[in-house]
Amino acid sequence: MVVKDKLKTLYELQQVDLKLDGLLEERGDLPAEVEELEKKITMLKAQVKENDDYLKKAVVRKKEIDKELDDVRKRIDKYTDMRVKVKTNREYDALSKQIDNSKEKLQELHKELENIQAKEAVSSRDVEKLKAEFEEEQEVYSSKKVELEELVSLTHDEEKRYVKEREKFAQKIDRQTISRYEMIRKATKGKAIVPVVRRNACGGCYNVLPPQRLLDLRQMEKIFTCDHCGRILVPNEIVEETARDV
Ligand SMILES: [Zn+2]
Repeated sequence: MVVKDKLKTLYELQQVDLKLDGLLEERGDLPAEVEELEKKITMLKAQVKENDDYLKKAVVRKKEIDKELDDVRKRIDKYTDMRVKVKTNREYDALSKQIDNSKEKLQELHKELENIQAKEAVSSRDVEKLKAEFEEEQEVYSSKKVELEELVSLTHDEEKRYVKEREKFAQKIDRQTISRYEMIRKATKGKAIVPVVRRNACGGCYNVLPPQRLLDLRQMEKIFTCDHCGRILVPNEIVEETARDV
């Protein structure tokens, strides 16, 4: 493809991209809002699950503790009975030590139980709050999503046509040039290709182009960019030709 045809195709591609931009702009902040809500809902769901999981685990652990408390109490009773019957001081001391250890264990278990109960109270309260918030956000999300879908469906056919048209132009140009074009478009948030405007200025940043650049442009032997803004410069005849074709 000669440079002139490449530039023309690129310029045509941009015309379609600008139409697509226009369609997306009509949707305003809605797509971003819907995405934001989606993220929030996912987060709330995870938080609800985390709390629910804790509450379930707490129930299991509390049962275990009850059982352990029971065992320890029985052990204390047993050692206490045994201690009454011992004959030596050494035996007496050994049992006393066992009893003390068991009592310590008893205290630890009570402490753990208290901790769990306190955390459970907080978790239950949190989970209620989170669930309410989740439902509220879910409702907003659903209505915004419907709104967005309606908006998208309004321009769906148009969008499909542009996407197809875009593909047709893009296929004609080499990958490297396309990615260069897309990079500039991203950086400039809009037009990557601009004509020369009044007083020989770049149509993107309005800086005056050096005379040599203007001569180069007319030769159309390679693709030139503006030294100031990096946009691809296109000779006016291509702009005019494209306008005539449409
Ligand atoms: Zn420029």
